[in-house]
Amino acid sequence: MSQSRKLYVKSFGCQMNVYDSRRMADTLASHGYVETAAAEDADLIILNTCHIREKAAEKVYSELGRVRRLKQAAAANRRVLIAVAGCVAQAEGEEIIRRAPAVDLVFGPQSYHRLPMLLARAERDGRAVDTDFATEDKFAHLAPPSAAAIRARGACAFVTVQEGCDKFCTFCVVPYTRGAELSRPVQSIIAEIELLAKAGVREVTLIGQNVNAYHGMGPDGRPWSLARLLERAGVVPGIERLRYTTSHPHDMEDELIAAHRDLPKLMPQLHLPVQSGSDRILAAMNRSHTRADYLSLVERLRHACPALALTSDFIVGFPGESEDDFAATLSLVAEVGFSGAFSFKYSPRPGTPGAEMPEQIDEAVKSERLQRLQRTIDERQAAFNRSCLGRTFDVLFERPGRHSGQLVGRSPYLQPVQATAPASLIGDIAAVTITEIASNSLFGTLAAVGPRAAATRPAETVLVATGA
Ligand code: SAM
Ligand code: SF4
Repeated sequence: MSQSRKLYVKSFGCQMNVYDSRRMADTLASHGYVETAAAEDADLIILNTCHIREKAAEKVYSELGRVRRLKQAAAANRRVLIAVAGCVAQAEGEEIIRRAPAVDLVFGPQSYHRLPMLLARAERDGRAVDTDFATEDKFAHLAPPSAAAIRARGACAFVTVQEGCDKFCTFCVVPYTRGAELSRPVQSIIAEIELLAKAGVREVTLIGQNVNAYHGMGPDGRPWSLARLLERAGVVPGIERLRYTTSHPHDMEDELIAAHRDLPKLMPQLHLPVQSGSDRILAAMNRSHTRADYLSLVERLRHACPALALTSDFIVGFPGESEDDFAATLSLVAEVGFSGAFSFKYSPRPGTPGAEMPEQIDEAVKSERLQRLQRTIDERQAAFNRSCLGRTFDVLFERPGRHSGQLVGRSPYLQPVQATAPASLIGDIAAVTITEIASNSLFGTLAAVGPRAAATRPAETVLVATGA
């Protein structure tokens, strides 16, 4: 393809979709597509969708209404193709074209490497649908990003190391839309991290639907654990910070817990979804851990890394959840003292066991419980943020702030930190003393400027807010 065309990609949902969207853009770049931030200029519009909750899936149809109008408006001058990718595409397939006939192309997460071929088919036949689970290694066929694309995306990058899930929590569509657990080989992941680091990436988050179930083939021909992969990633020149997400409590093995003690580049922050504080509900959710298992895991993690801050996911109003079950969730939040959490109303998803369970909870009850839970979580988060006042952290600066002369970066705990700093520090780590706390970010002043010798741990650690 000689002539350049414009590509607009919009991601919904999780970081895995953000990563996938970038890999699709990288693959299409070698076919003459240049990314645009303006959907109205695009020749190809890709909506990379999320099916996790009903609201997320419905957003796609309202966005399709908007892009259909753009396609019609452009029709006199050029042909605009509309593609639906991601988990809604995987779950609904042809149905999307029946509901939204302006769509030309529907393809699931396992077909991204076939995108150039699917596009050619859609251009030729008017339509293409591909929701097969790939038998070949998708990642081996996706084009790598150019150095310019990496630089434009900033100093923090996601790298998918694992996809799919075999856990089958009864509320969740992921095992159906993303398929069985699959881990990428170590060498291909390390080659990608090396490429990112050479172009200026300093922080890498290894991602997967169930990232700590990682068991990819190592260069020694044996499966490697996530802990071993993290250790290897930490010695890639230029990489200063490591994170991983999202983990399942069941797969939090001793070796990975020890990595929080032993790997100085592994940031002292862990997202560890628990979903509920009630054993009865955890069993109905098929979570394969109890409240006591979770609490003991938290204790072991904090023993390994006393500075560790924990965040989590919660679902309220799962079928059969009583007021006592919900109270157990509230008490778990208080007992663990999370530094933040996401909380959701249970959304029955077609094809999952939860959707068929009797005792579905009334929407009004779900809403009221969600409000109470969010209040409790917000209080914990505020307490955690207050505990940061006066402390000095290493901050990785990512971009200019709202006011001139200001930069925004992230603390080791992922909190956004604003500080007056020279633009030359973008992409670098510097020590910042926290002087002010706002609801969603911290403000600070530079304590020392320039690349540091080795420190990636917070210059001074923060005690995790626990108790009242
Ligand atoms: N793999 C992760 C784990 O084991 O917890 C979570 C993956 S899921 C993409 C992210 C979060 O969405 C879940 O932790 C859960 O809280 C929420 N979620 C998933 N299905 C849901 C549903 N049917 N209704 C409401 N929230 C849901
Ligand atoms: Fe979904 Fe996570 Fe449960 Fe897998 S472990 S089914 S991704 S919630």
